[in-house]
Amino acid sequence: MKTMRIFLAVLLGASCASLLSAQDKPAAKPVKAVRFGKLWDAKGKLWSNAIVIVEGDRIREVTSDAAAIPAGAETIDLSKYTGLPGLIDVHTHMTIYTDETPGEPMLKQLNNPPAMEVFLARKGALRTLEAGVTTVRDLGADQYMDIAMRDLINRGEMIGPRMFVCGYGVTITSTAFKPGFNPSLGGIADGVPEVLKVVRQQIAAGADVIKMYASTGTDDDTTGFQTYTYEEIKAAVDAAHKFGKKIAIHSYGPDGARDAVRAGTDSLEHATDMDDATIQEMAKRGTFYVPTIDHNRYYLDNWQKIGYANGFQEKTKAFIERNLDTARKAHKAGVKFAMGSDAIYTMFGENTRELGWFVKAGMTPEQALRTATTNAAELLGKEKELGAVAPGYFADLVAVEGDPLADINVAISDVRWVMKAGSVVLDKARAQVR
Ligand SMILES: [Zn+2]
Repeated sequence: MKTMRIFLAVLLGASCASLLSAQDKPAAKPVKAVRFGKLWDAKGKLWSNAIVIVEGDRIREVTSDAAAIPAGAETIDLSKYTGLPGLIDVHTHMTIYTDETPGEPMLKQLNNPPAMEVFLARKGALRTLEAGVTTVRDLGADQYMDIAMRDLINRGEMIGPRMFVCGYGVTITSTAFKPGFNPSLGGIADGVPEVLKVVRQQIAAGADVIKMYASTGTDDDTTGFQTYTYEEIKAAVDAAHKFGKKIAIHSYGPDGARDAVRAGTDSLEHATDMDDATIQEMAKRGTFYVPTIDHNRYYLDNWQKIGYANGFQEKTKAFIERNLDTARKAHKAGVKFAMGSDAIYTMFGENTRELGWFVKAGMTPEQALRTATTNAAELLGKEKELGAVAPGYFADLVAVEGDPLADINVAISDVRWVMKAGSVVLDKARAQVR
């Protein structure tokens, strides 16, 4: 259609060309003015009576001058509340969502066809938004369901947080020999050439980030045996970086963590019992630590519903304590943190409870909020567009009731209103979810 119009314009001369440009001119972007009683902008300023002027999906201006509100702007009055930037969760598994179907262990609900899994996951996506999380980094999915979900959300076909995804995580062989033809499973790589191949496959599929599992440990298994050699880890890190991608490395234990940091990982996930030298190295290199302490709390609270065998509670409690202790040491040593929930099953909506653990580890509420805003945005390589309320940034805004800088629980539990890219996605002030 457009080609035809251009063709006609060339044929009929310049007078028609001006008509064409008038016709194709995009409609003016809607302008909104959002008023907050207080606003923590994550740029170092706590505003009183702030007005955030939003044009389309971006922030045009932050001011406290009511005269700056453009004529005809839609005004949203949240002056009872404190405004924050939309929060970022850097470790989710959005496609591993399960319902609370009575009597059905959640573990068994994950055998649905991928199209069904993605459809069901919209509920977890909504709950994540309701927690004030407008962006996630999703670290591991089957059959590229994460890529489908990311793209559906970006097209506006599904309501959910903006997603940065990794496809399959790179992982070692962990199945026994089976005679006959065995179709290969996604993500499995042994040895440097296979690691390179799997990293390249994820990039070809459209992954935004690479994930590698460098130790055992997942679900109710809290072991942390190193799985990949330093050479394999280094190969994955270098291959990701060559394509301009960042890498997140999973290690429950200290050995995989040591090699991941030394190999130059951008973030280290889970990592308990890290030695002082590794912690020092992280501080020196600026490696992000994503301790995911709260997901084990979720497992303890829900183990029967999930379908875990009885008997893991004691070791998991001990693991949580060691995880918190490692986080405390790392914070003291000046390591940068990013908030990751590791949300799966029905944990969506509890994404920001991790911030409570960060305060327990010695952070001020403001330092904790940085892990889910400016730090997380830096880890995504999006520090100029996400994680702050400032001109040019995405209009991702959250209103909370209370003072989150005095009590982090306000940011965790008292979210009343959420805007993502200029659209209101939660409005409890009017008691409805859109
Ligand atoms: Zn995970």
